[in-house]
Amino acid sequence: KKAKTLKQAMAFYDQDDDKAQYRELLIINGLPKGLKQNQLFMVFQPKLDLKSGHCKQVEALIRWQHDSLGLISPNEFIPLAEQTGMINILSTWVLDNVLAQQVKWRNTGVYVNVAINLSSTDLDNPNLAADVASKLAQYLVPAESITIEITESVLMKSLAQTIVTLNQLRDIGVKLAIDDFGTGHSSLAYLRHLPVDEVKIDKAFLDEFETSPAAKQIVKTSIDLAKNLGFEVTVEGVESKTVLEALHHFGVDTIQGDYFAKPFTASEFEHIYPQLNYPLISSAQINQP
Ligand code: C2E
Ligand code: MG
Ligand code: MG
Ligand code: MG
Repeated sequence: KKAKTLKQAMAFYDQDDDKAQYRELLIINGLPKGLKQNQLFMVFQPKLDLKSGHCKQVEALIRWQHDSLGLISPNEFIPLAEQTGMINILSTWVLDNVLAQQVKWRNTGVYVNVAINLSSTDLDNPNLAADVASKLAQYLVPAESITIEITESVLMKSLAQTIVTLNQLRDIGVKLAIDDFGTGHSSLAYLRHLPVDEVKIDKAFLDEFETSPAAKQIVKTSIDLAKNLGFEVTVEGVESKTVLEALHHFGVDTIQGDYFAKPFTASEFEHIYPQLNYPLISSAQINQP
């Protein structure tokens, strides 16, 4: 629809604006009910370990099948849950769900590390590490079978306090990862102060990987930097064999992306897990253009 007058344009704008606000309200108000009625569920995206060619870890990603809005992306409802203070309830639900799933998998011989995304508000909780530790004890799941991912921009918000919390989490034995690395527009110098095991390079950096030598060089430089600082390096959003092989050659430890595997439900994952291998030739054999 096209507006012919300013008045019409304003009216259309208002309509669209109302619609967006109404949708937000449905999402915000619907979250407690959605949780109660099991509309939320986790999917698990396998990561490929480029040394062994096996899947040693999955990332837990939340989904919401809303009764009237259909499937809603976490990119839409997580920020709203953060703004309204509901994220803590949601993160507790995610932790419970993932730990219960870990118990089931471990009982059937599936030993994978599961990565959980936490949000900035979770990091503001001074009892976060104690809460996580008591959950691990409750489910009898070893701490090292869980990784906590924290987005780079969040880390920068209050670096000193964040480092205290990260150290507490590290002390209880969970693995830690910086997520969406490169999107925080922050200096790289702070990286060495962070007590984390892994750096996940954001998929935005792969957009021009195959078309722009400069873009490819930036990815390579980020990988080298992270590796030289002693971090394990993951690149997310890998969608092609070409990119996978180039990253293997660059010395990346782990890749995640639709080329290897899309996110699966828990039961789909159990079935596919034995076949989740990737035949790798040694990185030295890959000829780089
Ligand atoms: P993230 O943590 O960076 O997760 C990776 C996102 O990239 C996921 O999107 C995943 O499905 C997507 N992805 C992976 N490989 C590919 C690929 O090859 N191509 C493309 N186009 N996409 C790929 P998703 O599941 O929509 O999640 C979006 C974001 O929502 C996550 O980004 C994370 O920040 C947040 N999120 C998801 N689950 C949770 C959760 O349980 N708690 C919190 N606090 N945040 C979550
Ligand atoms: Mg993540
Ligand atoms: Mg990420
Ligand atoms: Mg991301």
